[in-house]
Amino acid sequence: MVKGFWPRTLREALEIRASQSVVPYAGGTDLMVQGRRDAAYLFLGRLPELREITADAETIHIGAAATFAEALKSEFVPPILREAVSHIAAPAIRNAGTFGGNLGNGAGKADSVPVFLAADAKLRIVSAGGERMVRVQDFYLGYRKLDLGEDELIAEIILPRHGLEHYFYEKVGGRNALAISRVSFAGIFAAEKGRIEKLAAAFGAVYGMPLRFPDLEGMLLGKTVEEAGERKGEFLDAYAKRLSPLLLPDRVSVTYRIAVCTRLLGAFLDKFGIVGAGEDEAG
Ligand SMILES: Cc1cc2nc3c(=O)[nH]c(=O)nc-3n(C[C@H](O)[C@H](O)[C@H](O)COP(=O)(O)OP(=O)(O)OC[C@H]3O[C@@H](n4cnc5c(N)ncnc54)[C@H](O)[C@@H]3O)c2cc1C
Repeated sequence: MVKGFWPRTLREALEIRASQSVVPYAGGTDLMVQGRRDAAYLFLGRLPELREITADAETIHIGAAATFAEALKSEFVPPILREAVSHIAAPAIRNAGTFGGNLGNGAGKADSVPVFLAADAKLRIVSAGGERMVRVQDFYLGYRKLDLGEDELIAEIILPRHGLEHYFYEKVGGRNALAISRVSFAGIFAAEKGRIEKLAAAFGAVYGMPLRFPDLEGMLLGKTVEEAGERKGEFLDAYAKRLSPLLLPDRVSVTYRIAVCTRLLGAFLDKFGIVGAGEDEAG
């Protein structure tokens, strides 16, 4: 029989987390597959504090135990996240799977996380002793290594309310059993007075954790789209070089998977008029 605790409030959950060796359990869609029979679970699904999706003038707050299906019904969830969520599995998984679980599982193939990375989202992490904020970019310390203490829980994901309107999201190969490579990509673009202010590009399912490289994005920041177009080839090459030592050989070659990544990145730039020499705007 599965051993577990069913706290009624977040405070009670955090007290149990601090005093017992427990595994947080939200929707269970990852944990059930892992089948850890020896674990004592801390069930989070009934905690109202973790399920709300709210917004104020500047930020959107998504409770860690809000399900993907609930997010699709919320007026506050921005289109880029809505699109990513709508590509996650089938309705049964979306009814149970949560954002906290997608992050807490620590996998590179978590489809909501590239959106959080590109959006510069933050996590509110709580424990019986207090709370702290962590950028999603800093939450991933390495393969299945997260900045999350044994006594802590992810309480909510906080996204900016503005600046996510111009985006590009694509998931390749995820649902087709014959598609042997799978990559998800989230890009967010913003320009101010004709200059590129934000060009965030995040990849999922290419490495043991979702990836974003702010230093490479810096190559095009502050440029006009025409100037960025002139550096587009160099920009795509820099990503290919950065990704190639990270990608592990899958059932398809690293070369093929890098080509998929750079094609998605190129399509993101195309969408916002960043076209290289010799390319026309229609691609
Ligand atoms: C058939 C199938 C298809 C799937 N397809 C996809 C897909 O297309 N895209 C995708 O991204 N994922 C997919 N998944 C994986 C899974 O559904 C997601 O990762 C989901 O977000 C997990 O959420 P959960 O609430 O079920 O997590 P759980 O299984 O409850 O937990 C997962 C991990 O997160 C930890 N955790 C949960 N909540 C918290 C919290 N608040 N604080 C700290 N740690 C926490 C748990 O301890 C555990 O380690 C699929 C899974 C299945 C079984």
